[in-house]
Amino acid sequence: MNKKYLFTPGPTTVPPECLLAMAQPIIHHRTSEYREIFAEVRENLKYVFRTENEVLTFTSSGTGAMEAAVANFLSGGDRVLVVKSGKFGERFAEIAAAYGVEVTAIDVEWGKAVNPEMIKSHLGNDVKVVYTALCETSTGAANDIQRIAEVVSASPAVLVVDAISGLGAMELETDKWGVDVVVSGSQKGLMIPPGLSFVSVGEKAWGLVEKSDLPKYYFDFRKVKKAQEQSDSAFTPAISLIIALRESLRMLKEEGIENVISRHGRLAEATREAMKSLGLELFAGVPADAVTAVKVPAGMDGSAFVKHLRGKGVSIAGGQAHLKGKIFRLAHLGYMDMFDILQMISAVEVGLNEVGYEVELGNGVRAAEEVFLEKETPFKFLA
Ligand SMILES: *Cc1c(COP(=O)(O)O)cnc(C)c1O
Repeated sequence: MNKKYLFTPGPTTVPPECLLAMAQPIIHHRTSEYREIFAEVRENLKYVFRTENEVLTFTSSGTGAMEAAVANFLSGGDRVLVVKSGKFGERFAEIAAAYGVEVTAIDVEWGKAVNPEMIKSHLGNDVKVVYTALCETSTGAANDIQRIAEVVSASPAVLVVDAISGLGAMELETDKWGVDVVVSGSQKGLMIPPGLSFVSVGEKAWGLVEKSDLPKYYFDFRKVKKAQEQSDSAFTPAISLIIALRESLRMLKEEGIENVISRHGRLAEATREAMKSLGLELFAGVPADAVTAVKVPAGMDGSAFVKHLRGKGVSIAGGQAHLKGKIFRLAHLGYMDMFDILQMISAVEVGLNEVGYEVELGNGVRAAEEVFLEKETPFKFLA
């Protein structure tokens, strides 16, 4: 038997409530039954996205919504500013280039956060959109979206935030901070399988939609908004995923978004303390609360370590691009509580020893438990 443990920053573990919801017989979407479900989903998405604006919902992975956030706001030859601080920042630049949009890149060393003043210094009248991420999942770094939104909202440009991994894990006050557009996906903090993507669009950004001449059909925001306002769907929706999403949104609402965010903060802190107590170094300068990137110690093969754990049924993530083999990434994202984190840390301790990198067994688990128990002093078994 090989039980599966999923500690990756997407897909994440799906709660039984959602799995069972998806096992129901399929219903038709042009019915009042479906519209009622979708109406609830629309309302609760706004709650989680912290916005009064419509959250457009598509059947695609998160990248589809990223592409839609290029195709709907721009025209050929327009200029955009892209923060390239990792793999997903690069993806926005690649999408924009594919659509014939002029890209000014802010190159940030991977693992670092972008300095909002850098964005400010690049904003001129000809920058239409600024693209960045809340959590750059490839490096585990968090960007200061509140400050970035302050800077961008004082300019004519629209701010698009990739919160595919950050949503529901880190604070993101979309309307309050003046974030124009938030992009997300279903298989991370929203706790359901891959297959849905989301874009919330504010008023300033709708102004760009009206002027955009880039080609689009399935992802046309105007068409989708018009249908959604009747709790209808422009095309056949992924009905089972929407029904699963109703369950996960209910769970998030019942817990309360502030509590969801602080739970992730605690899980992240415990994971970071555990890694440090094993003598390992964190990769990100400002670590995100969705995923922790850990430097692979000198002399150890990071890819072999990830593969070794996978062979035992434990999925963690390795590094991407030039970070392959150099970091491993541990997610504390979605349907997770302290005991999931303790299992994950235990797996890392056991796995490291098995591949020949000796760490003191139990040190990481204890450090995490101390965070959970809010112990200031080192835990003593017999006090
Ligand atoms: C996962 C992720 C994506 C890509 O989403 P897909 O669903 O794989 O298309 C993009 N950006 C960030 C920050 C992510 O974490």
